[in-house]
Amino acid sequence: MPILTLDDHNRLHLPEELLKRLELRPGDRLEAELDNGTLLLRRVAPPSPSASPVQRAISRKNLQTGIQFIRGVGPKLAELLAKKEITTVEDALFCLPHRYEDRRQLTPIRLLKPGGVQVFQGTVQSAGATTTKGGRRFFEAVVADDSGSISLKWFNTNPVWMQRTWKTGRRGIFSGEVSLFGHQRELHHPDVEWLEEGQDAALLMAADQLNYGRLVPVYPLTEGLHQKGMRRVMAQVTEQFLPNVENVIPPRLLPAGHLPLREALEQVHCPPVDAPLAALNEGRTPAHRSLAFDEFFFWELGMALKKRGITLEEGISFQVTHRYTKELAKLLPFQLTAAQRRVLSEIKEDMMAPHPMHRLVQGDVGSGKTVVALMAALVAVENGYQVAIMAPTEILAEQHWHNIHHWCEQLGVTVVLMTAAMKGKARTEALAQIADGRAAIVIGTHAVIQEKVAFHRLGLGIVDEQHRFGVLQRSVLKKKGQNPDILVMTATPIPRTLAMTLFGDLSLSVIDELPPGRTPIETRVFFESRRSQVYAMVREEVAQGRQAYLIYPLVEESEKSDLKAASQMAEHLQQEVFPELRVGLIHGRMKPEEKERAMLSFKARELDILVATTVIEVGIDVPNATLMVIEHAERFGLSQLHQLRGRVGRGSHRSRCILLTPGNLSEDGRKRLQVMEATTDGFRIAEADLEIRGPGDFLGTRQSGMPDFRVASILRDGSILEQARDAAVRLLAEDDGLGSAEGQRLREELVRRWGTRLELAGIA
Ligand code: ADP
Ligand code: MG
Repeated sequence: MPILTLDDHNRLHLPEELLKRLELRPGDRLEAELDNGTLLLRRVAPPSPSASPVQRAISRKNLQTGIQFIRGVGPKLAELLAKKEITTVEDALFCLPHRYEDRRQLTPIRLLKPGGVQVFQGTVQSAGATTTKGGRRFFEAVVADDSGSISLKWFNTNPVWMQRTWKTGRRGIFSGEVSLFGHQRELHHPDVEWLEEGQDAALLMAADQLNYGRLVPVYPLTEGLHQKGMRRVMAQVTEQFLPNVENVIPPRLLPAGHLPLREALEQVHCPPVDAPLAALNEGRTPAHRSLAFDEFFFWELGMALKKRGITLEEGISFQVTHRYTKELAKLLPFQLTAAQRRVLSEIKEDMMAPHPMHRLVQGDVGSGKTVVALMAALVAVENGYQVAIMAPTEILAEQHWHNIHHWCEQLGVTVVLMTAAMKGKARTEALAQIADGRAAIVIGTHAVIQEKVAFHRLGLGIVDEQHRFGVLQRSVLKKKGQNPDILVMTATPIPRTLAMTLFGDLSLSVIDELPPGRTPIETRVFFESRRSQVYAMVREEVAQGRQAYLIYPLVEESEKSDLKAASQMAEHLQQEVFPELRVGLIHGRMKPEEKERAMLSFKARELDILVATTVIEVGIDVPNATLMVIEHAERFGLSQLHQLRGRVGRGSHRSRCILLTPGNLSEDGRKRLQVMEATTDGFRIAEADLEIRGPGDFLGTRQSGMPDFRVASILRDGSILEQARDAAVRLLAEDDGLGSAEGQRLREELVRRWGTRLELAGIA
């Protein structure tokens, strides 16, 4: 017998008996979750009345009102809105128009100009399906007024259905972007509002002020959701709920010219008639800037609080005994650079302090972060503590293990590898060594922070290539010990604004110098038509006693077809192109031992050419490799290309990087690759990359740890981010623990917005 039933509106009906069993009363709220076919219901705790004044509870509750309770929003519309992540009134308020149209007045057809959206009225002169010279079918209607006529076109529509609505003689108000086709003006897929017999256009416009006669907001839609319907919902929401929006940030903290939240929201949804259209469309009006500030402010406040929380925590005061570090310095075949020494002393200072370290070390590819990390690790080991080093990929973890274990063996320090690929006895043994403290340094992937891994006495956690991990991983690692020090390393030079956002709770050290003796890498873009020339370069390089990487793009390591392409590539190169040379292959899906073997034989010069997927992006170090050919370079991000390229130019020989691309590269694509030709400065490349791709792609959205700001854009609003950070710091300087009434309110809002995301519960 079904316990639950759904009605036509997908509403759930709970039988009386079940309600009793669950001890539910009218007004109780349930939260539902589908877990493997089982529907889990949970009663949501009612808001505690003592936590906030009644007044506030009411207004807050209002903004949390489900969107389905808005007049005119039925279950179907609610479902569509949910697809746009609008489930509450608040979600709706923060769903901003992505552009605006100037529908303030009607333009005579003769005066319609290409570019920009315009509104006009007219009568349909003719309409029907036609075909372009190229054979493409489309639907065309010609519309005229007293001043002239214009052609409207639709592609990929149903002509039968179109013919039914587009009848000769019918009058309407049309809007859309005018474009030029040769000398002829035309509109593609315009909006139309039909006029009744004898109805006056100007009157209709005056009557429908939602869609005409003003700067009209255009909202992002989803299939089935229409602009007019969306506008109606938004108008309803703003009218009814804007008065409930609380301006939580005190005005004295707002930068000059900024609006309080409520006004800002009002102006983005209903722009004043004289608002500048271009600024609206670029999101640069005072209202837009104010919303960005609002968003950034709370994030930065969270970061500042976190940072302050950390400095208040009790941590380990390490002593620098030099027992192992001095020994290591003697073993190294080189001297640390001035930058490495400076950063190391910053780290040591943090480690000696009685509070936990929380430091980010930023250094370009090849700047020598590993040695710095190892030195820090040894300080912890000298004090009888364990160290965890976390890398984003298995191959990098193995590479670290390889390098570090090599030095540590000579010092008598035990290093253990821990990856997800490790199974059976090896794994059990590693876990045991970590648990009883025999393992002084543990190196691995995120497997290191899995539940099963228990440390005997973790004193320092090191996270390499941080941008792939988020704030959360950092805090899980932290919980593996008792307030261990945390050191984060990143090879991607992160533009300042991004770094401030992502790592606002960390102190920053920069290794801004490369070890001496590196020769700059020369980079050139080649079209595939010149492939044979590139192969000749490979041959030449090998003849000189050098080695080469051939990189094959894998969009994702799990994509088998691409993998096959890489393997086939290796085989093709060995059999047909370089039969006289030794070609090897390495990719992410190989077993660790196989990867290790491939890497070692390349290092030992048993291979001339290593065909690789991007697994070698980080970590591999073969100074004799001086040529890198990157296939389909246009598929990679610039920062990724920079990382890849950093695998050559590691020795004293001249190094080159060839970016192979198909001939039909887009203008943008060409520009991107030209950046690579022009500079080897990681920071400039990162800035360019960020500009071209936006922060989400730049970091790889999913794992980036990048907060999903609803309005603010790291790129566009960089200066506002700095203002927000200043304001947050200023506030904490005034009201250290946010103890005042105002501070309490800000803290509440902060927890509400970012609490779980920032793991603020502990300090807020
Ligand atoms: P990254 O910062 O990219 O992680 P690595 O730590 O892998 O760089 O270092 C790159 C290479 O430079 C390694 O071979 C390392 O041994 C070497 N190296 C590091 N520091 C120095 C130095 N001060 N002088 C010369 N070589 C160094
Ligand atoms: Mg590194």
